[in-house]
Amino acid sequence: MARTYGFDTLQIHAGARPDPATGARQVPIYQTTAYVFRDADHAAALFNLQEVGYIYSRLTNPTVAALGERIATLEGGAGGVCCSSGHAAQIMALFPLMGPGRNIVASTRLYGGTVTQFSHTIKRFGWSAKFVDFDDLAALEAAVDGDTRAIFCESIANPGGYVTDLPAVAAIADKVGLPLIVDNTSATPFLCRPIEMGATIVVHSTTKYLTGNGTVTGGAIVDSGKFDWSASGKFPSLSEPEPAYHGLKFHETFGPLAFTFHSIAIGLRDLGMTMNPQGAHYTLMGIETLSLRMERHVANAMKVAAWLEADPRVDYVTYAGLPSSPYAERAKRVYPKGAGALFTFAVKGGYEACVKLVDSLELFSHVANLGDTRSLIIHSASTTHRQLSPEQQMAAGAAPNMVRVSIGIEDVDDIIADLDQALAKV
Ligand SMILES: *Cc1c(COP(=O)(O)O)cnc(C)c1O
Repeated sequence: MARTYGFDTLQIHAGARPDPATGARQVPIYQTTAYVFRDADHAAALFNLQEVGYIYSRLTNPTVAALGERIATLEGGAGGVCCSSGHAAQIMALFPLMGPGRNIVASTRLYGGTVTQFSHTIKRFGWSAKFVDFDDLAALEAAVDGDTRAIFCESIANPGGYVTDLPAVAAIADKVGLPLIVDNTSATPFLCRPIEMGATIVVHSTTKYLTGNGTVTGGAIVDSGKFDWSASGKFPSLSEPEPAYHGLKFHETFGPLAFTFHSIAIGLRDLGMTMNPQGAHYTLMGIETLSLRMERHVANAMKVAAWLEADPRVDYVTYAGLPSSPYAERAKRVYPKGAGALFTFAVKGGYEACVKLVDSLELFSHVANLGDTRSLIIHSASTTHRQLSPEQQMAAGAAPNMVRVSIGIEDVDDIIADLDQALAKV
């Protein structure tokens, strides 16, 4: 019997095999848009989805496919599809489920860009989102109506300090018979495997920790393969005949891979939010060291958060890894390997002090990004969460007196020394 490999092995080997043409050990960058058909029958079979293969790189590409398989394996899913960004992954994940008049119930604690995408942009498709505090499970359940098609949250939430009780949320999703979509960007499959806790679909911004060094934007969708798309009649794109494929029924034909095949054959084909092979290559390189980086990210974040909490120039620190956090017990239970490396802290002196702090740091970079090897800082209220109303800012944990840090993997003493000198100037 084949051995089941551990996470550290899979992050290097899953989805990759020596190149059949050359024996190349590393996954080659297949920099091609098209693939020669063996003959006309082969071409017809591919176009009819009767045979799996490569047609055109808007749909599939071997380098991108290797990454999709690797992320799906690390998440414990049935299938994975990569796309051009995390935001593309969110639209791609909702696309097979939604239609005009349908809604999702989403957590209030989300990445700022996601709040904007869900409050405004998806309305152009006739979709909408109801935002609910996911700590209030009764409110979550009550928000679900006959038009709801998915429940959406982040595992370890961005901008930080909050961790979702995924098993509790998944139990509600089960009860109401809807798919749970979890954005696992800030946690990564090293710290959290949402599918094991009952999630249906996982989405990622591979731009962050999976690539790990701030080089490329990308996204991924992983399907658990466990949801019965035909049971309720609510997901006709997956259960009913698809006119663009001669009446093919995705769920009936592809079973646990229905969502994955639909994402490629309809989603990527028609929405075109494709990841390019160069981008996939950078992420394949980065993901090989995911567990090593995440361990260091978490260890550094713990030390920096504890140091800041003890500093009189700081009002408070919201990091679920700290014993003082209201989410400390939940973090230990649901995220035993650590609460991530993203958190916020409030600086005495408010908005002005935050601006001064950000401008005084030398090692930290002031950027709108996270999950880099480098330590990063941003004043969310004046940047990433600027488009949000004051109420939304507060709900998302992005108050005006708070800065968000993404703790890197540098020497932790250097990170703390930089914060120390900058706080002295505030
Ligand atoms: C960055 C991020 C996104 C958006 O991803 P992009 O790759 O920038 O499109 C979505 N969710 C979370 C939690 C993120 O951190």
